[in-house]
Amino acid sequence: MTTDRWDVVVVGAGPAGGMAAWTAAAAGLRTLLLEEHPEPGAPPHCTGKLSIHAFADLSLPASFARNTLRAARICAPSGVVAEIRRSRADSHVVDRDAFDRWLTERAVEAGAVFVGGARAKAASWDRGLMRVDADRGRSSMALRAAVVIDAEGPRAQFANASGIEPRRHLLAGLQYEMEGLDLVDDDGAEVYAGRTWAPGFFAWLMPLGGGAARIGLAVDPREATGPPVQYLDRLIAAHPIASRRACGGRVVRKLAGSIPLLTGDRPAFRPGFLLAGDAAGHVKATSGGGIYYALLGGRVAAETAARAIGGDKGAWRDYERRWRRQFGREVRFTARVRRALASMTDEDMNRFVGTVAGDDRLRRAIERHGDTQYQSRLFNPVLGASLARAARDRAFAGTATRLIGAMIRTYVSD
Ligand SMILES: Cc1cc2nc3c(=O)[nH]c(=O)nc-3n(C[C@H](O)[C@H](O)[C@H](O)COP(=O)(O)OP(=O)(O)OC[C@H]3O[C@@H](n4cnc5c(N)ncnc54)[C@H](O)[C@@H]3O)c2cc1C
Repeated sequence: MTTDRWDVVVVGAGPAGGMAAWTAAAAGLRTLLLEEHPEPGAPPHCTGKLSIHAFADLSLPASFARNTLRAARICAPSGVVAEIRRSRADSHVVDRDAFDRWLTERAVEAGAVFVGGARAKAASWDRGLMRVDADRGRSSMALRAAVVIDAEGPRAQFANASGIEPRRHLLAGLQYEMEGLDLVDDDGAEVYAGRTWAPGFFAWLMPLGGGAARIGLAVDPREATGPPVQYLDRLIAAHPIASRRACGGRVVRKLAGSIPLLTGDRPAFRPGFLLAGDAAGHVKATSGGGIYYALLGGRVAAETAARAIGGDKGAWRDYERRWRRQFGREVRFTARVRRALASMTDEDMNRFVGTVAGDDRLRRAIERHGDTQYQSRLFNPVLGASLARAARDRAFAGTATRLIGAMIRTYVSD
């Protein structure tokens, strides 16, 4: 049995935990970073698409950008395609194993202690400190800390065992990294929409350059009739667009993981215990993207820990205020859009994508205001262009009315 006392124990060495440990250690806090796997970042599960804002705001090294994306092709279930091309870069694609490892190395350089192969089981109050019980191989660890930062990712088992039940619903994701593909370009991601292909979410192709790409999907287990592998293999074999790209390609690795969708708006803290990243459900529910919010949330959590340890009693509540100010609007907005999208049939999706493809005003509105990091900025311009279109197109008016109605219902029901 190992017993140890720390200022901060961080659970999980993903983007949230790595950034939290780095920030806490740099602030002079005695910081322990626990990771259930021997190494941070392995095995990777994620596509690695990260907004250019994250690189600028957090001074991330440009060398992590394996590829740069400027365009997106939205493919309706029927195979109709709408291409959105921005004049500026939107995102870079990173390799998560290298990225997560780098963050942990920065944390260790700043003074944090990293312990791999250690699985935190639960935390509880014990004589004015948090007690964290963890297993490492056959030995047990009983750690004491002023603050626990839970950055365990989507499953939230540690949070549940610690008496915190974040409200979320998990989607099942799977992707193949493939080489030898027949791609249109290197800077355009593809999104394959429709219940037929990925019930409850969507499928994607993220180019890596040189004919390589990550092609994957997530499905809602409540709607899917089989595991994600069944849908991904079918997408690659039979989707009107994806099969053309992937036919003849070879799978070089497989990556799987869950995407948490928030189903309630609960605080991400208890005094002494802060949730960050996927553990808090901080993702864009439209795309499942959560790396940037994990980095921001991890940093704010560590700053909160420093203030709380310094005696600031308002620090815990301020954590909630700060993450909400930084990205809460996008988390809430994308959750509403996801719920509205759930009301769309494949027929609606065909009509919507077909309209965007053929309507210059609507497409230009998306190109001008679209930013995958700040999706709420699209709402007013797209609403305006959609209403103008609906006034002269009865078929589209039906789809637009259903979508807008579903969006309004999310405001009424909250
Ligand atoms: C298929 C797929 C594709 C995705 N693509 C993108 C994308 O392109 N862009 C994007 O922004 N987001 C994407 N995401 C989401 C993104 O991966 C997450 O939002 C991000 O990883 C969240 O970071 P995190 O640090 O909160 O959690 P994680 O990255 O999940 O890290 C949590 C870490 O904690 C460890 N851990 C868990 N429990 C314990 C425990 N009890 N004790 C010790 N260690 C523990 C885990 O092993 C893991 O290393 C994708 C997700 C999936 C599933």
